[in-house]
Amino acid sequence: MTAPRAGKPAASRAGTPAAQRGQATAPGERLGLRSDWDYALHLPLHYVDETRITPITALREAQVAVVQARVVQAELMPARRRVLRVLVEDSGGRLELRFFHFYPSWTRQFAPQRELRIRGEARRGLFGFEMVHPVCHAAGAHADLPDSLTPIYPAGAGISQSWLRKAVAAALARLDMREWLPAALLARLDLPPIGQALRLLHAPPPQVSIEQLEDRRHPAWRRVKFDELLAQQLAQQLARARRAEQRAWPLARQPDGLVGRLLRALPFELTADQAACVAEIASDLEREQPMHRLLQGDVGSGKTVVAALAAAQAIDNGLQCALMAPTDILAAQHLRRLAEWLQPLGVGVAWLRGSQTRREREAELARAASGEAALVVGTHAVIQDKVRFARLGLAVVDEQHRFGVAQRLSLRAKGAGEQRQPHLLMMTATPIPRTLAMAVFGDLDISTIAHSPPGRQPVRTRVFSGQRRDAVMQRVRELVLAGRQAYWVCPLIEAPAEPNDGPGGHAELRDALATHAELQALMGEQAGCVGLLHGRMPAGRKAEVMGDFAAGKLRLLVATTVIEVGVDVPSASLMVIEHAERFGLSQLHQLRGRVGRGSEAAQCLLLFSEPLSATARARLQAMHQTSDGFVLAQKDLELRGPGELLGQRQSGLQGLRHADLRDDQDLLELAREAAAELLREHPQAAREHLQRWLGGGMDWLAA
Ligand code: ADP
Ligand code: MG
Repeated sequence: MTAPRAGKPAASRAGTPAAQRGQATAPGERLGLRSDWDYALHLPLHYVDETRITPITALREAQVAVVQARVVQAELMPARRRVLRVLVEDSGGRLELRFFHFYPSWTRQFAPQRELRIRGEARRGLFGFEMVHPVCHAAGAHADLPDSLTPIYPAGAGISQSWLRKAVAAALARLDMREWLPAALLARLDLPPIGQALRLLHAPPPQVSIEQLEDRRHPAWRRVKFDELLAQQLAQQLARARRAEQRAWPLARQPDGLVGRLLRALPFELTADQAACVAEIASDLEREQPMHRLLQGDVGSGKTVVAALAAAQAIDNGLQCALMAPTDILAAQHLRRLAEWLQPLGVGVAWLRGSQTRREREAELARAASGEAALVVGTHAVIQDKVRFARLGLAVVDEQHRFGVAQRLSLRAKGAGEQRQPHLLMMTATPIPRTLAMAVFGDLDISTIAHSPPGRQPVRTRVFSGQRRDAVMQRVRELVLAGRQAYWVCPLIEAPAEPNDGPGGHAELRDALATHAELQALMGEQAGCVGLLHGRMPAGRKAEVMGDFAAGKLRLLVATTVIEVGVDVPSASLMVIEHAERFGLSQLHQLRGRVGRGSEAAQCLLLFSEPLSATARARLQAMHQTSDGFVLAQKDLELRGPGELLGQRQSGLQGLRHADLRDDQDLLELAREAAAELLREHPQAAREHLQRWLGGGMDWLAA
């Protein structure tokens, strides 16, 4: 059978406990479990060995064990906090059970002489071993013991382990677990059949090492993780094949055209890395297959000019280029820069953004639709329904991880006229470690700007306790008065109206509005040079403030993370980040990338507040030690795992529930090779595998 992914839950049709109790929604749905296959893949986090009884005398510290014992006495201790103490014994020794939460009736259940089976973690107490809140039930000494390890599942409110165990067992019994992958492949990779692997994981024989299971190193786990990665790799390779069948306008290189003129007009020479990326993109664009390329380069590495040259190549061929950026500020900046470069060369530019008067917008739309604007720059507004292009040849998405798959798809669809897709160039300043890139973008070509343009000075980064905030403010004042331009970054716009002042509560966060006022007061007569920028300001006002800062009218800009992405004011050389412990590593790196863009030596001051978690400490340390975005990205991967690194919108990773790219890089490589082999030699098995793992949810593949 195949596993339905949506619609009426198969489990309740087939009579799980929920259905028997006649409930409207199966509790499993709250865990996202619908099909039998979902249940089969709801794998235990932990296991408990209840297959044998441990004599009390043989208990070990911190061991979870099952004990068979008789109640000696139960007493309520009239302490400040009431405690129920139950003393039990077996033939060899005594054990104390303690309960801090209990019902009065429990004292009766622990009547003397009662035979109990007790499961709990043994702790050495004052008078021998004790167990706090063990699981107890009445059972005679000869009552059956389970013959497999007891799984402990991820559960949720109101969902009991015993319900889950039954539901999973029922699902496993119904599922057709015939193997679909070729036996030779499994033998070569030393992986067990899927049915065997899943049955083992849900009910391991007692001799299996719990440690291996919980570390997910057991071969059964490897099989599940391999299968998951295989599904992902298959999907990506298929998507790639599908794309190869699509047609794009081939965009020939014309050395005497716009590309050449733009190169000659630039105020700088391309770096070797930039030139290599330009060449890779140019040869993609010449092909009749749509380009699908990611341009990655650290903040400030100079990706924009590479995009501009790609746009010029499209325009040289009479086609249009659309450029989409995630924020108004960034879109405005691209517009300014690209217009500065391209308009003098006779290129018409249109500008689309969320907050535009209707008339402005209609005019820009008309210019895009007629082809008068060869370059269309904007935010999400670029992908709205009303936007039509005369002949879209190239779509550029900046900071692509900020966009969802659906948004990238709609941009591509804009060119679908005449059966041609636009070439797609995505750009990111969040450099992605190779393994991760392979997992997420297996179907993507990657160009990398590894080294930033010469002459940049590394940003000196120092970390201070928030207790030294006043001193830092004074220092910033001096530097600004001495002519430096600085950003002061705060995590919030304003303190919430209702203070939530627990430790770490938001009331403690320095807010941009208050900090702005504070810094203005501090600057005295120079208060006018302190600006404020945050996400809730109208777009026009934001652009105005950015413009004043770029022009040097504002010298100190208090900002929220709206400046995180792409903002380029080369004269700014100082940045303070408050509550740096609250930011992720890539976000800190992005923020810091706003300075050190000019020739002046730049500084970044990170202020943190206690308590500082171990991870936060490691992040701040990494920021202090390196400014290499690739090193930081790798570090981020280690600290956080890949899910967050790319933002939760990054599909494909959402799918990875079992494999962990930190631990399973070897499996990823194997899955990649196996996927190619299956598609070539066993297409039926490949189809079945995809059907199992992805069901209908394959839309993201096309993006
Ligand atoms: P990012 O990769 O972060 O988008 P930008 O494209 O904004 O970086 O470039 C950062 C700055 O470096 C810009 O001011 C840009 O004009 C400048 N720049 C780009 N390429 C070069 C180069 N080859 N030599 C000197 N400056 C460059
Ligand atoms: Mg940029």
